[in-house]
Amino acid sequence: MKIDPWSSELYGQEYLIKEFGLEKIPSEIKKRFENIYLFSRQIIVAHRDFDKFLEAYDKKKPVAILSGIKPSGEFHLGSMQTAKEIIFFQKYFRAKVFYCIADIEAIADNETRQEKVKEFAISNLADLLALGLDEKNAYIYQQSTEKHVLKNAFLISNKITQATLEALYGEKKLALYMSAIIQMADIFLPQDEDFGGPKNVLVPVGFDQDPHIRLARDLAPKFGLITPSATYHKFIKNLKGEQKMSKRDPESMIYLSENIKSIEKKLKNTLTGGRTTAEEQRRLGGEIEKCMVYELCKLFFEMDEKELMNRYNKCTKGKILCGECKEEVIKKALEWFVAHQELKEKKITLAQKIIEKISK
Ligand code: SF4
Repeated sequence: MKIDPWSSELYGQEYLIKEFGLEKIPSEIKKRFENIYLFSRQIIVAHRDFDKFLEAYDKKKPVAILSGIKPSGEFHLGSMQTAKEIIFFQKYFRAKVFYCIADIEAIADNETRQEKVKEFAISNLADLLALGLDEKNAYIYQQSTEKHVLKNAFLISNKITQATLEALYGEKKLALYMSAIIQMADIFLPQDEDFGGPKNVLVPVGFDQDPHIRLARDLAPKFGLITPSATYHKFIKNLKGEQKMSKRDPESMIYLSENIKSIEKKLKNTLTGGRTTAEEQRRLGGEIEKCMVYELCKLFFEMDEKELMNRYNKCTKGKILCGECKEEVIKKALEWFVAHQELKEKKITLAQKIIEKISK
């Protein structure tokens, strides 16, 4: 089986963990992060060598976090998930974040026009800054202008055959293979001699990005580098509860900078776990495991554990119906979006400055 990092397909999580030898988050790591919702709510569910990364950090060895965004559209709830993880890890480990603006991938995968790439890059970065990334402890760069990445991508391509890429990604156009190789150079950038040499690097991702992680882990020893670690968050389904939340299906996902009225409309249409009749729901409770409204609370809009538990109990014991519940969640979510959009507005100038500087 092949995972396609460029598609919106939703794969069976348990199956992937087993098929590709990922490890579930073990009890000692869960205990260490027991008060952190990303772990306690089982949002981060699997890893590769996260234990080794933690060991290095505990021994006070240098560590770094690596992530990025493909500027082919506005930030949406799905892309926000990874952003929240890197911001948490940046704070927790006081580690430098290497943040890649993947403009080459945006052109290769989505054929986004150059001028739009820049516009999205500024907007995406402003979202990230508004969410809490500390730009002073980050190295933000653009793939097409970062000379280390371009040079290293060439060196890496010398160690990969087309057969390896085909086995990993399936048959793809050359531009996507090239962008995958450039992503290897992104993952290795924190270990470049000019950035302090080999170190443990953590890459927080969704399961669909695992082919890149596997390739990077195979290649790292060939360049005398430390094998990168990764954490994997659960699939962020779209508002219909189906495919992964993706820019490819705008009606079933929410952009962070979307018009508030439009967000409200989408939230009103979000899948619930409501029963056929009110009587049935009062008797049996809602089917919360299917409910995307509850999922949105769990992932983004309800950070208070007691409140979340309260909603869970009320739903599953039939003490609340979906109409009332949804209304409460929509109110909370819209407050969040308004506050975020205001904060983002204040970060635009800084984002512009950074993008101007790294575009040269
Ligand atoms: Fe979802 Fe709320 Fe309905 Fe339960 S009551 S299924 S949490 S919308």
